[in-house]
Amino acid sequence: MTKENNNISMEEIVSLCKRRGFIFPACEIYGGFANSYSYGPYGSQLKNNIKALWWKKFVEDRKDMVGIDGPILLNPKLWEASGHTGGFNAALVDCKECKRRFRADHLVEKATGEDMEGRNKDMTRALQAKKVPCPVCKKFNWTEVRDFNEMFSTNMNGITDENGDYLPVYLRPETAGAIFMDYKNILDSTRVKIPFGVAQIGKAFRNEIVAGNFTFRIREFEQMEIEYFIHPDTKWEQQFENWLVEQNNFAQEIGISKDLLSRYEHPKEKLSHYSKKTTDTMFKFPFGIEELFGMAHRSDFDLSSHAKHSGKDLSYDDRNTGERYIPHVLEPTFGLDRAILATIISSFVQEDLGEGESRIVMKFPPKIAPVKIAIFPLLKNKLELVKKAEEAYDNLKNKWLCEFDDNGNIGKRYRRQDEIGTPFCVTIDFETIEKDNSVTVRDRDTMKQERVKLNQINEYFEQKFN
Ligand code: ATP
Repeated sequence: MTKENNNISMEEIVSLCKRRGFIFPACEIYGGFANSYSYGPYGSQLKNNIKALWWKKFVEDRKDMVGIDGPILLNPKLWEASGHTGGFNAALVDCKECKRRFRADHLVEKATGEDMEGRNKDMTRALQAKKVPCPVCKKFNWTEVRDFNEMFSTNMNGITDENGDYLPVYLRPETAGAIFMDYKNILDSTRVKIPFGVAQIGKAFRNEIVAGNFTFRIREFEQMEIEYFIHPDTKWEQQFENWLVEQNNFAQEIGISKDLLSRYEHPKEKLSHYSKKTTDTMFKFPFGIEELFGMAHRSDFDLSSHAKHSGKDLSYDDRNTGERYIPHVLEPTFGLDRAILATIISSFVQEDLGEGESRIVMKFPPKIAPVKIAIFPLLKNKLELVKKAEEAYDNLKNKWLCEFDDNGNIGKRYRRQDEIGTPFCVTIDFETIEKDNSVTVRDRDTMKQERVKLNQINEYFEQKFN
């Protein structure tokens, strides 16, 4: 039976990721490091391809967008103005028996069905009333529910109080802050006109109370974020919808299965006071339907707050109409690590080949596949074959990311490339050198093979990849 993305387990995904060099647990030789992962040779290539596609789609191909690359360490005043220093909190509760920590709101919601986020006293009472046991040790002995600020802090030379003691400096908990810090310089140095957007790809850090589900919830992750500045009177509803469609389209472009995507609109009463609407793009992970991307209308909250705290004028000067105003902002955010995980899950197919044989094949769209073409000499001890294969490799690698492999039998090499998700394999055999200079090209998805002349191979792949 063919097994596809909607019935595979996380164990199968994690195992493939490690076996084939997509994602490794970090620092394994030292016993690992909690929920920390490294993108391996094929994973980092996949990640770069996804980032490049995003940057091209949202920055290079649009007249109304520019990009930046801001710092991770930013002036702590920024996080005071944005509300993160005081308010980037999660509700924490400790089990006094086994000393493990949990998200109190998650425990309470599971037990009562009620979302009590922000009401710590009610949550403490609910844990008692329902006698909610510790999910790990099963005992019942909770601390009070309290706020925990999820920002990571560090020290920096020069940032001290009057006694010379360090003051905290934060690793950014989201990339957006850096965009607001550059907003005025962008207005002064480029020709952008409202409406316009600023995009950024980069790391963000959150000291999550409970991380897990592989790379779904980690403490160091990457975001691809846009702040799209609009006139306050704009009819924003259609633009909001357009961004949601863009997020959905991008997800499908990188191979995320349409059938596993859905939307969740946050109820009005749960929105921040400044937000007009927040809608998440959801993905059906093997552990449940969870947020993949976020989309929010943030009104003029960020710019107004930074203008107030910094004392700088952050209004937009419309030279055509003479109007000055603080723009409103639409914020589409794409979590890169979750996008990669959803792509891997969506692309994973286990096919039954009959007679007890099966294969796992990663059906990545060719444009994001880590390797585009694998080149094999049929036998590694036949010098003429190896030489010819190397020539083919040197030729093709100028245009496409290629891998040379002369290890083991051809069947095994095909299986390996199937699991890496390589769209095409090229085999150089005796016919190539003794007969007509043609090679076998094997298609990842259909497993069909055809002979192609080496002097026509560039045009052949040009056509295939287009
Ligand atoms: P969640 O509710 O799952 O914690 P969030 O609503 O806090 O997510 P946002 O602040 O909207 O997330 O961040 C935007 C995007 O960043 C998310 O849609 C997600 O893809 C990604 N993201 C957020 N937190 C993490 C994390 N701890 N690990 C990996 N990706 C994350």
